[in-house]
Amino acid sequence: MKEEDIRPQNIFNTFLKLIEEDIKIYFVDKKIYIKINCPACKSRDYEFIFIKNNFNFVKCNICQTLFCNPRPSFKQIKRFYKTSESIRYFATEFYPRTEENRRKLIFIPRVEYIKYLKKKYNLKQNLTFADIGAGYGTFLEELIKQNYLIIL
Ligand SMILES: [Zn+2]
Repeated sequence: MKEEDIRPQNIFNTFLKLIEEDIKIYFVDKKIYIKINCPACKSRDYEFIFIKNNFNFVKCNICQTLFCNPRPSFKQIKRFYKTSESIRYFATEFYPRTEENRRKLIFIPRVEYIKYLKKKYNLKQNLTFADIGAGYGTFLEELIKQNYLIIL
């Protein structure tokens, strides 16, 4: 698999350009950003690592998780996902144009690997999945085709 198969450069470049523009629209008000503890272990022991697209990234000194801190408020994130041009472009252009390749090159092989592991470790019981950040649900669709139980 080549990156171009699932993320064609011209489409991806358009998406990145839209993201940059949307950041200036949706995340400019840093006064309402929220300072958080490590989202993985809740530690307050972290250190600054870098700035990307005007967001600060820190690394937890306990579990090494890299995260944005302070981060935009829930209200800012919700508005971004609901109304931004970049997310509209991703949903209507980017993902539909790459979904079948992603299904064929990523998700079907992933389901096949799960089947292989189930057989290798002789797992008799049904497996149950919760896909956090499932995007458009393509992986879950492939699991359902193989009669795996899904928690939504
Ligand atoms: Zn941590």
